[in-house]
Amino acid sequence: MNLIFLGAPGAGKGTQAEVVCNEYNIPAISTGNILREALKSGTEMGLKAKSYMDKGALVPDEILIGIIKDRLAEEDCKNGFILDGFPRTIPQAEALDKMGVVIDKVIDIEVSDERIVTRMSGRRVCEKCGSSYHMLYKKPAKEGICNACGGTLIQRKDDHPDTVKDRLDVYHDQTEPLKDFYSKQGKLFIVEGQEEVADTTKLVLEAVAKQA
Ligand code: ADP
Ligand code: ZN
Repeated sequence: MNLIFLGAPGAGKGTQAEVVCNEYNIPAISTGNILREALKSGTEMGLKAKSYMDKGALVPDEILIGIIKDRLAEEDCKNGFILDGFPRTIPQAEALDKMGVVIDKVIDIEVSDERIVTRMSGRRVCEKCGSSYHMLYKKPAKEGICNACGGTLIQRKDDHPDTVKDRLDVYHDQTEPLKDFYSKQGKLFIVEGQEEVADTTKLVLEAVAKQA
């Protein structure tokens, strides 16, 4: 099954994608994580992406399209995949079509801007392995420390409130039109983000299991 997870930054796509990927045994591909990895290893692509990411802007389409093309060609994507954070623009979605990638479903997680701003301020990531946490919704066992690797939890630069507002503008402007794009193809499933992460997960799993 080939899935796309859509939603505003901080809507919880990544967390939900992780659950579905374990349930269905397909990889969850987060373009944000791929870019942050590239940045950490100091590759040319990573350095180029950094200036955009820090501002909360989108990294140019051609970079992302290249990343996804390579990643989807890997062996583990044969039985399906979840795209988390891609496509984020209409040209990116069109590029998927051009690659001959058939998407089965698009799961759109809806959360109001207001709640997103509050939520994002509590988001933390592991400096070392990139695992994500939340000070209210997904606490680590030990405050400030990653459960997976013992690394230190930090706030991403682009999770600072001002940058979050910019990212929301970018989302409404460039990413939200994808809802229409996929709705016209009959592939869009809307899930209302709930207060409790587990409640959203239940709705997401139902949407994934539903016949299109
Ligand atoms: P979130 O899901 O919290 O919005 P991500 O971790 O997915 O954030 O992405 C972080 C940043 O990486 C984005 O703000 C953007 O700069 C860049 N990025 C990730 N995916 C894409 C994409 N498909 N197109 C353009 N830029 C992207
Ligand atoms: Zn870690």
